[in-house]
This record gives sequence, C-alpha cells and structure tokens, in this order.
Amino acid sequence: MKRWSLVIDVERCEGCHNCFLACKDEHVGNAWKGISLEQPKHGSEWIRILRKERGQFPVIDVAYLPTPCMHCDDPSCVKAATNGAVYKRSDGIVLIDPEKAEGQRDIVRACPYGAGEWNAEKGVPQKCTLCAHLLDSGWKEPRCVQACPTGALRSLYVEDSEMKRVAESERLDVLHPEYGTSPRVYYRNVFRFLCCFISGSVAFEKDGHAECAEGARVILLKDGQRRGDTMTDTYGDFKFDPLEENSGRYRLEVSLEGFETKIIEVDLKTSIHVGTVML
Ligand code: SF4
Ligand code: SF4
Repeated sequence: MKRWSLVIDVERCEGCHNCFLACKDEHVGNAWKGISLEQPKHGSEWIRILRKERGQFPVIDVAYLPTPCMHCDDPSCVKAATNGAVYKRSDGIVLIDPEKAEGQRDIVRACPYGAGEWNAEKGVPQKCTLCAHLLDSGWKEPRCVQACPTGALRSLYVEDSEMKRVAESERLDVLHPEYGTSPRVYYRNVFRFLCCFISGSVAFEKDGHAECAEGARVILLKDGQRRGDTMTDTYGDFKFDPLEENSGRYRLEVSLEGFETKIIEVDLKTSIHVGTVML
C-alpha cells in the first residue's frame, strides 16, 4: 500500500518562507470539511522554519529547518486523544477531527515535536494536515511543496519498501528518533542544522607577507584516532563538517612540505574557526 512521506533537504532551504505563506493561503479563512477548521491568521505555524547560524567570522553559514507535523506512524497525539479524535489514515496522514477534538488540549501537549497548536478562538487543537483535502482531490503534492522555489520540499507517495530504499540511498534522517514515534518526514543534510564544524586557514610567510598555503594537509584526531584528513584549497582554507557538538577535545595536525608541522588543540562545543595557522 502506498503512503505519503515528506523529504526536506536542509541544504536547499533558503528560509524564504514561501511554504509557510502557501500554508497560510490554503488554510487561513478556509475550513476543509472533515479535515480542518480555518487556521488562525496570526500566531499559527503549521510549518515552522527554524534557523541556525554556525561558525564565526569569516566562516559562517546559516541553515533553515522546516518543521511541519511529522505524520508519525506511532503518534503520541493519537494516544492522547479521546473518542478517536486524532487518527492515522491508511495513506500515512495523521488528522485531527475538528469536531471530535473540540476542547481536547492534551492533544497539543502530547506532541513531542511541538507540532500541534491550540486554536483558542475555535477551542480545537490543530496542525499540518499534509493538505489531505488537496491530495484527496488528486493533487500530487501539498501546497507548501508546490510553493518551494528551490525544491527543498518533496512529497512521495510510495510503498514503505520504496521509502526505505530512498531513505537509505539518500542517507535521510528523521528528527529525534529517540521520541519513538516513527516520523514520516525525512531530512536530507540535516547535519547543517544539528552538527558543527571546525574550520581554519593555513598560510606561510613569503617576502614579508602572508601567502595562502594551498595543498597543506590537515589531519583531525580525537583520542589518538583519525577522524578526518583533508587538504587546504586555493585560499588555504580547510573544514571538517559534520562533527558532533560538545564532543570534547580534538587535535589538528597541519603540515606542508618544507615547513614544520603545527599542532592545534580544540575543545569542541560548537562550530569554531581556528583562525590562520602560520607555518
Ligand atoms: S508530529 Fe506530533 S502531532 Fe504530528 S503525528 Fe507526530 S505526534 Fe502527532
Ligand atoms: S502540508 Fe499543507 S498543511 Fe502541512 S505545512 Fe504544508 S501547506 Fe501547511
């Protein structure tokens, strides 16, 4: 049986919020019978775009993480609801019945991803519906996916075995697998949001000024084990990414023929630019 999943590529997301606006356009002022009541105009985010800045000048990057409801296969919101007010459809979509869910604020509290919202005006919990009303009428993708100009969002309607194959071949991750809810929203390049890096530049002195050391070898060691090995680029720059935040002490060995090897120690908490290593 085919089921819906979303794949979100963090490296492609530019934080333009087109997905967020498309969601507003589809749901604010529109109730979709049996699927959802109107989304509030303000203060509601059925797809939330989180932002993370990494590094220090001059090596900085920014990643955006779109987070809708994960349409979990083992959803805690379903368990928290009474009267079957939240249910999972055979096509993978998790929906809140707007009538049965009236007054059930626990449904919002139960979601470990914070995907549910309380609509105070209507007195109902709400969340992303995966635009089930559109998919049911033949749309091939929800509004947010259609609106994404960079192709960062992708919807798939495939057999679970095919989704498993895609997840493995594209090295997809889910957010917080430790929650145990089996999300159907997958992420590509999520290291851009969850992990950190060590970067730096290598130079040497020539005729009284600094020259970029292209082709210098940089080895990254942790507890005596090699964790990375790279060469500097034309500008003498190097980067090890991804690394785990707060993962302790690392040692960088920087070498170039004709120069003495330089050692740099790093206590890694978050992304760090070690500056220019002068050989
Ligand atoms: S992300 Fe939260 S609201 Fe969505 S299905 Fe999972 S538990 Fe339910
Ligand atoms: S799938 Fe539909 S309801 Fe869910 S975030 Fe995208 S536009 Fe909003």
